[in-house]
Amino acid sequence: MARGVAPRQPARTGRQDKVRSARTRMAPPPQPRQPGSTPGARVGGVAPSPPKVPASRTPAAAKASKLGKGYNPIAPERVDQILKRLNDLYPNVTCALTHASAWELLVATILSAQSTDVNVNRVTPGLFRKYPTVQAFAALTPEQLEPDVRSTGFFRNKSKSVVGAAKKLVADFGGEVPDDIEKLLSLPGVARKTANVVLGTWFKKAEGVVVDTHVHRISRRLELTAHDEPQKIELDLMKIIPRDRWIMFSHQVIWHGRKLCLARKPKCADCALENICHAGDKTWSTVDMHKNAL
Ligand code: SF4
Repeated sequence: MARGVAPRQPARTGRQDKVRSARTRMAPPPQPRQPGSTPGARVGGVAPSPPKVPASRTPAAAKASKLGKGYNPIAPERVDQILKRLNDLYPNVTCALTHASAWELLVATILSAQSTDVNVNRVTPGLFRKYPTVQAFAALTPEQLEPDVRSTGFFRNKSKSVVGAAKKLVADFGGEVPDDIEKLLSLPGVARKTANVVLGTWFKKAEGVVVDTHVHRISRRLELTAHDEPQKIELDLMKIIPRDRWIMFSHQVIWHGRKLCLARKPKCADCALENICHAGDKTWSTVDMHKNAL
């Protein structure tokens, strides 16, 4: 008996007995497992003959070459390939949130949580015409702002964050958005993702890697991290990606997530990263897939 394969037990209802006896009647007696066959593979009945493939292209060989000692998903040469291909795919991308100042970008980024950039871009032009300065936002109560940001979702929390950030900027930073990560993180509603967006996109300062929903998903699909928490993912990415690529990497991955590497049904057949991607939920593949790569 193959190791780990327990004999099927009859159910109390007797239904399994019938199934077993029917199978027993139809199938020839089980054969011992042949050398080289897969554990758990069908041993009884007439198994279809395996397709003839060169030994070097058997699943076992592929698995050995990809998952064995030689495969390291964060090997510098693999990471270089990923960065190069992202560069070729998205050479001139930037943040898609409409903004004309650091403050507008900060507000737009706060509003973009759990929403789309398109949705936020529908709201912000009117919002900034109505309240053209940080001081104008600081003079509001969160309740006054709620109707203007309602369509972006989670509007109560977002109103609190925007008004709270405006008040703190006016009180502690002269009404200016600071270009310092610690100061940005002291603003209500500003976590590392928002701070990194403002620092990278507006101030061109690479203090970290933006980990939004796209970067989270695609970093895991590409096995650049095994973590699930944004902060741990960011630390992993900061270790393997050169600092001068942190800002562009985030923009490119976010665009990749919008265009091809969609959350559901990624367009793998059109993806230039396909032959170095082993994500377990690929929709098309020329390489073996790693079930834990997501
Ligand atoms: S091959 Fe598919 S899963 Fe992998 S990066 Fe490309 S689109 Fe995403």
